[in-house]
Amino acid sequence: MSREKNTERRAYVLREGYSDEHCVLVYALTSREARKSYSLIDNATYISVGVERAPSLDQYASRGGPSVSDLLTHHAWWFECYACTKRVDGETEARIVTCEDRWSPVVYCGEACCAKRPYTARGAEVSR
Ligand SMILES: [Zn+2]
Repeated sequence: MSREKNTERRAYVLREGYSDEHCVLVYALTSREARKSYSLIDNATYISVGVERAPSLDQYASRGGPSVSDLLTHHAWWFECYACTKRVDGETEARIVTCEDRWSPVVYCGEACCAKRPYTARGAEVSR
């Protein structure tokens, strides 16, 4: 007997500890694989990481994941301003800088914060 092999990557949300605030989105075949890839990138202790399926984000798998803008606008996610840690949600005129060398995107609540603590390493500006 063999189980049908699952080849579609699915969205998992990982949370460290029991924090409701900080989470990371990972695409993987299994929750085990999701935990592993998270620990590789963030060097985290993945034993304590909680994994949750996020079916509404599966649709972005082929694109390598949703944009920050998608998350803010369509999935009610929020981010912390990189400079002042203010909450940036779908209502905020946010300035978004995605960085390939970071696990999570860099998001600013506005121009002033962007100027205050610029993140320049391999950053590419994204317009909303
Ligand atoms: Zn700010």
